[in-house]
Amino acid sequence: MEDDDFKESQPKKMCTEHSSPDAGVSTSIEDDSLSTNEIDRQKAAIKIAKIWEDQIAPWSHYFIAKVYGTSITYGDIYSLKKNSWVTDKIMDAYLELVANREMANGIKIKHMLVTTTNNILNGEYVPARNDKNILMSTEFIIGAYHQSGSHWDLLIIEPLNGRIIFLNPMGETDFQMRTVPLRWKKFIEQLLLQFPADAAVIDKEWNLEVPTHSKQQDGSSCGIYCLMFADKYLARTSLHITPAESNQKRKSIARSLMMFEGYMEGCCPCCGYHTNPVAEPLVKCITCCKFFHKKSHCVGENVDQLNLTEFTCALDRV
Ligand SMILES: [Zn+2]
Ligand SMILES: [Zn+2]
Repeated sequence: MEDDDFKESQPKKMCTEHSSPDAGVSTSIEDDSLSTNEIDRQKAAIKIAKIWEDQIAPWSHYFIAKVYGTSITYGDIYSLKKNSWVTDKIMDAYLELVANREMANGIKIKHMLVTTTNNILNGEYVPARNDKNILMSTEFIIGAYHQSGSHWDLLIIEPLNGRIIFLNPMGETDFQMRTVPLRWKKFIEQLLLQFPADAAVIDKEWNLEVPTHSKQQDGSSCGIYCLMFADKYLARTSLHITPAESNQKRKSIARSLMMFEGYMEGCCPCCGYHTNPVAEPLVKCITCCKFFHKKSHCVGENVDQLNLTEFTCALDRV
């Protein structure tokens, strides 16, 4: 897929009974010589280009894809646009994708959500029962750290050899070099209080390591650099990144996440929860044919009050 493909305009959508992610995509790209996967990638690229063309739109809160446990919105995909700061959801969704990719290759890896990573590195985490098992059975634990002031860092733990890898795309500060290992050890100490019998496995020498890595050269690429560090570290390749690679990665991350659009099928685009035509009142969009819950939160107060069964959703109201 070449960059130029992103500039294709999206054809007008048609309403079909089965509103699938395929609906409304030009047949011109449905060439027999292309694999289904490649066609899906091209369709995703067209949608991404359309999302990036718009400014922050009235439908930016609509959900577009469900990546394992993380639902992402149009606004999240928008945040992958060049010079934008990527959202927590993008960090979590892509790292979850990375973890699942590695697990498919036989690597024992666990992704920690941003909220968990933040709680641990801020010294506020209360260990859960399952944490002990994760520590004892995984090769890697990865998580993005949302540093105050809207900046992303990456934490990778290698429990089997006691390695704490911390990567700050701006360069690690003295404060971080001191506090990251202290906060991790605080978490370990709390675990030991709960599971003293497992001390032989959990209580090891933990050491901070900071591999040589490129530094971001702008004010917005920290998240992309962290996601690329995760990819490269797990592939055991150099953590060298150029700005051009970083910009290219924005597109490939967006495409990878959009491959999960189908998992949002049957869900209300506004709240992301499943719709059940038998059990609850729904409102259908006459253009995209997606069903929304008949609640003011999902369709707006007017539609709710007027007792309509059909409307035009924010995405198609243009
Ligand atoms: Zn809803
Ligand atoms: Zn619609």
